Amino acid sequence: MVTLEKIAHLAEECRFDSSGPAQGALQAGIDEVDVEKLRCLGEGTRHDVCASTYSPRETPLPGICHAFTQDGRCVSLFKTLFTNHCSHQCSYCSNAAVCSNKSRAFSYTPKELARITISLYRSNYIEGLFLSSGAGRDEEHTTEKMLETVRLLRQKFAFSGYIHLKVLPGSSRDHIQEAAKLADRVSINLEAASASHMNEICATKNYENDILQRQRYIRDILSGSSRNRKSILPAGQTTQLIVGACGESDEEIFQRVLYEYREIGVKRAYYSAFSPQSGTPFERKTAQPLWREHRLYQMDWLYRIYHFQADEISHAFDENGFLCNADPKMAIAREAMDRPLDPNTATLQELLRVPGIGPRSAQRIVALRKRRPIVAKAELAAMGIRIKRAAPFLKINGWRDTTLEMWQA
Ligand code: SF4
Repeated sequence: MVTLEKIAHLAEECRFDSSGPAQGALQAGIDEVDVEKLRCLGEGTRHDVCASTYSPRETPLPGICHAFTQDGRCVSLFKTLFTNHCSHQCSYCSNAAVCSNKSRAFSYTPKELARITISLYRSNYIEGLFLSSGAGRDEEHTTEKMLETVRLLRQKFAFSGYIHLKVLPGSSRDHIQEAAKLADRVSINLEAASASHMNEICATKNYENDILQRQRYIRDILSGSSRNRKSILPAGQTTQLIVGACGESDEEIFQRVLYEYREIGVKRAYYSAFSPQSGTPFERKTAQPLWREHRLYQMDWLYRIYHFQADEISHAFDENGFLCNADPKMAIAREAMDRPLDPNTATLQELLRVPGIGPRSAQRIVALRKRRPIVAKAELAAMGIRIKRAAPFLKINGWRDTTLEMWQA
């Protein structure tokens, strides 16, 4: 655990006296680092998600958070806002201009933030930076300062760690272009499932122009770079939605996320269950249960990893478009599977539709049956299949489990 005092101390001690282009560049003006600023700007990222519920929850303390790479590696990131001052009026956000309970406004200077980041990096506490921000007095000015921080890190101090940079709504194409050259991943928060839901959350942001259009800029930069075989934004573009801030259904959220995957090419969507913050216009709204966020991540997983079709997934929603607190894969199987499958003859895609069978265990089934037929449930259990869940949907050695109501005689 790295305390905020320790982070401040490391930054104050940081002299950058190594040889190379960074020599001496930050030696001048090593001021005291304000622990209260570290705390407020760290806490201000509470609405920014950098890991899903499939991973351990982030530390509640401001400072260092944990995220997971594509290959499942856990990485530590210094997670902070550049400024907690924001001219926007998002009704759920404690950084918003309309929040009556705002903490004191703080901003880093690019040099100060670069120094904190590099000192943590060189002390092996972090592998990267997750940098978000309020809009400050205007997006352009704040984005310029965020980019200056990242430029300092990359160009002056040869920082080769991971950088996830939030793109502020309404950022210019030039700024987005530069962010894409400097960062490993960029993201712009979608927040809401539609323009009308956005209007309920925030009157100062235009959903189409400030958000979707900026996401398309990023998409076009990425597709241009792959045409020119230039390596840019290796971790791609992601996005994030607040779940349940204004009555939107899970189906509406899911439809929007499908659009993001198909049309915008986002690598990941993240979900954050709405939680009311005191002093905000939404302070009296009901908090959303974490299970809702978790079930949306499961749906997301079924689409991205199991390659379920959108119309199959729709079986999981109730008549009002909401998920219940149960495994959506089980709900889909009950609705969509009309006969038990023989694991010796089912295709890989069919096996993936059986509750309790994941991509790895489906591969194991296919590998085993090439050598010999599968004749007992115990063989499946030995491969890591959750047999209690899977058995009612399978016919093994001519026998099927009769405990599932829908297939009882
Ligand atoms: S843009 Fe909205 S969500 Fe982001 S910091 Fe400002 S008020 Fe908060």
